[in-house]
Amino acid sequence: MSTARRSRFARGWVLAATSRIKRIEPRTTAAQLWKVESESTPAMFYDVIQKSDGETFCTCPDYEFHNGETCKHIYAVVIYESQIQDFAPDVIDQVENAIQN
Ligand SMILES: [Zn+2]
Repeated sequence: MSTARRSRFARGWVLAATSRIKRIEPRTTAAQLWKVESESTPAMFYDVIQKSDGETFCTCPDYEFHNGETCKHIYAVVIYESQIQDFAPDVIDQVENAIQN
């Protein structure tokens, strides 16, 4: 895993562990939608959308700028849905230290 990917994964973990994410009940089965809060602009949310064929994308600038590379919001959704963030409550401190160092 590259440093950039590791950082996105770690930040996604923090977003999931601090519940800055909500799942929107689908009106159709064609796609799933999550709202994930921006790290830098609180109260602003990006849409993570997963189509029924599995294709997943995000409306954030990072996703667009890096041509569809998995962003922290998509990692947050994956982590949130798997609920692994609750197995290590102290991981938030470790992750934030790792990001800063
Ligand atoms: Zn994103």
